[in-house]
Amino acid sequence: MRGPADRAGGPVAAPAPAAVARHADAATDADVLVVGGRCAGSAVAIELARAGRRVVVLDRAAFPSDTLSTHLLWPAGVAELRRLGALEAVRASGAPSLTRALAGAAGMEIEVDQPVVDGIDHGLCVRRPALDAALVDAARRAGAEVRERSTVTGLLRDGDRVAGVRVRDRDGHETTLRAPLVIGADGRRSRVAQEVGALEPQRERRSGRDCFFGYWRDAPADPAWRSIAAQWRADGELGTAFPCDGGLVLVLLQPPVARRDAFTADREGAYRATIARLPALERRLVGAELVGKVRSATRLASYFRRSAGPGWALAGDAGHFKDPVTAQGIRDALHYGRRLGVAVAPVLDDPVALDAATARWERERERECLEVYQWTNALARGTALTPLEAEVYRAAAGDPSIAAAMLEVFARRRRPSRVLPPHRAAGLAARSLLRRGDRRAAVTSLGRDVATACGDALERVGARRG
Ligand SMILES: Cc1cc2nc3c(=O)[nH]c(=O)nc-3n(C[C@H](O)[C@H](O)[C@H](O)COP(=O)(O)OP(=O)(O)OC[C@H]3O[C@@H](n4cnc5c(N)ncnc54)[C@H](O)[C@@H]3O)c2cc1C
Repeated sequence: MRGPADRAGGPVAAPAPAAVARHADAATDADVLVVGGRCAGSAVAIELARAGRRVVVLDRAAFPSDTLSTHLLWPAGVAELRRLGALEAVRASGAPSLTRALAGAAGMEIEVDQPVVDGIDHGLCVRRPALDAALVDAARRAGAEVRERSTVTGLLRDGDRVAGVRVRDRDGHETTLRAPLVIGADGRRSRVAQEVGALEPQRERRSGRDCFFGYWRDAPADPAWRSIAAQWRADGELGTAFPCDGGLVLVLLQPPVARRDAFTADREGAYRATIARLPALERRLVGAELVGKVRSATRLASYFRRSAGPGWALAGDAGHFKDPVTAQGIRDALHYGRRLGVAVAPVLDDPVALDAATARWERERERECLEVYQWTNALARGTALTPLEAEVYRAAAGDPSIAAAMLEVFARRRRPSRVLPPHRAAGLAARSLLRRGDRRAAVTSLGRDVATACGDALERVGARRG
């Protein structure tokens, strides 16, 4: 088992402030107001503060603070933490480096090294209080002002431009703050999105899976399990085991929504019964003990919202969300939060250039994330492995280069449609039809897979043309 590759790499030094960095004038309280201070909010604030901009982050929470989310980061997410100067503090949580990934399905298990992204060769799974506190701390160190227990209750406008926020502080006092740009980094139920009329998504797909997760005191017979991020599928069930900080292992189950009633009737009972349906996960947990309650997130939907307008932008989940099944949300909130900061920092004093920059940032995010969103939606369908998916698993079990290519999709180094060359995909499709079993069902399923692939490709073409 390999050790972490970033031992040599501490936090990446903040870039020198931009040559010309103008500050808020008398009519404004900041250059940028950021609503929400976790992944997206801290990332954008760090980048803006590094550019010499005056940024005020407002969050109704007091950190460290938990939120309803599991928290696996693939290497690309860990690389983002390092860029933002938060990795050392996150690492201090004691979470193990997840240098290997395992996928089990169709009677096979595939285990591979994590791909290396910007020198990072491992994932991390750190509970949100520690993860988010490290980000907030990094934002403060970069020079952002972070006001906790501050709830944004509405927006201020100058004509058609958003020009600031109304905020209620910890003592219940209402004040107003003005800035040329307000960024909503306030999560799925974004108040900013609601205020600008963007809450209704432009694209949306309801998840076919619910989420039920709990923490287990981990005691694997083989200590190597502590460095493996694992996922197993059987029939429609999907379960994961991600070792995390505190000597715990996070076990997230994503049963099909049709099984929700069983969880409603007896959440822990159904959680344990579902683990028993995934025998390899059950074996992984021998000696482990469930601590605390099983938590749930149901009725999830993945979406893109309109995310830029005059004087406003939506970062992180406020603008775009993907089902947790591929664990991409935190990375994307950090990555596109950071890029939003880079895009707007030089143009905050020019409203026309500012609106053009936020619009361009939104288009780039959609173009880069659409295929990952489609791939996530396919995994979130809540159905059993299709014959074609099973064939791909078999191929990956026999060919480490395919297994590595699959993992590169999670690491955002490869597009989902580029895992297999077209001739290989066609060969596997043909083989799925030739296997013994229900031929008619295999044909129907393959027809559905092909129709979905065509529909997705058309959606991407449409998005590129705008
Ligand atoms: C069940 C579940 C499991 C998940 N598992 C994973 C995973 O394993 N890996 C992964 O990468 N992603 C995962 N995600 C996705 C991940 O949680 C999100 O993508 C990520 O938290 C987005 O960060 P954010 O900063 O945009 O929003 P959030 O983390 O939601 O933060 C929003 C902040 O805004 C603040 N806020 C909201 N309204 C106001 C207001 N009016 N005034 C002031 N402050 C306000 C809140 O207090 C909060 O601190 C999961 C999501 C869910 C639901």
